[in-house]
Amino acid sequence: MAVLEIRDLHVSVETDQGTKPILKGVDLTIREGETHAIMGPNGSGKSTLAYTIAGHPKYTVESGTISLDGEDVLAMSVDERARAGLFLAMQYPVEIPGVTVTNFLRTAKTAVDGEAPSVRSWIKDVRESMSNLRMDSSFAERNVNEGFSGGEKKRHEILQLELLKPTFAVLDETDSGLDVDALKIVSEGVNRAKENTGLGVLLITHYTRILRYIKPDFVHVFVAGRVAEQGGPELADRLEEEGYDRYLSDAPVA
Ligand code: ADP
Ligand code: MG
Ligand code: MG
Repeated sequence: MAVLEIRDLHVSVETDQGTKPILKGVDLTIREGETHAIMGPNGSGKSTLAYTIAGHPKYTVESGTISLDGEDVLAMSVDERARAGLFLAMQYPVEIPGVTVTNFLRTAKTAVDGEAPSVRSWIKDVRESMSNLRMDSSFAERNVNEGFSGGEKKRHEILQLELLKPTFAVLDETDSGLDVDALKIVSEGVNRAKENTGLGVLLITHYTRILRYIKPDFVHVFVAGRVAEQGGPELADRLEEEGYDRYLSDAPVA
């Protein structure tokens, strides 16, 4: 069974004012098929965790480890991480002029699998996934991210997820900027990947809304670069009612 392990991770970022420590000892273990929600106030380091897993050059791992089935993820290039089965939406450039969605997806699939998919089954798979996500077929001929609306960007992200079939996906604020209908469609896509391929999900979100559609097995509350509390789905329900105040002030909670 595949497992992604993060151990005592300390990460800093280079800013104009110098090196700023952000993650201060994060521990997380995600197994195949599990969904872990990372929740927390703005600025607590959630995206930093996502960028670090993705291998973003701006973030420096000071100490600690990330391993995938015992393999050192931190020693891997971004491409190697994708080939190892990690899906990190933010690793892809924001806009790729002159590259259509179809060509982009095929190139990504070839890079991840180490061989090009057969043309016939590929076209069928792309059509099927696009129709699942209620995407118009003309979308395939558009240039990647050029003029995409927020909702189209998220659907494109989930389209990649469906087609690349990773072992683990890190989804950072996938719910932001989506109306309820789009949120449902995107969530269904994630749930299909969970069902069909046993995808493990690290679902990073500030709000509990998406957790109505993608059910977490575990919830971790991130505060000031650390996991301040963890629990099951009931923890998300409590956050929905109480917000993050209890973690941010020293005042006792009534
Ligand atoms: P979250 O996703 O939980 O809102 P982030 O990981 O984006 O939190 O940010 C955590 C802290 O690190 C914030 O104080 C933020 O300003 C800072 N930070 C993150 N990335 C950078 C960066 N590239 N440059 C400067 N500061 C950063
Ligand atoms: Mg933020
Ligand atoms: Mg963030």
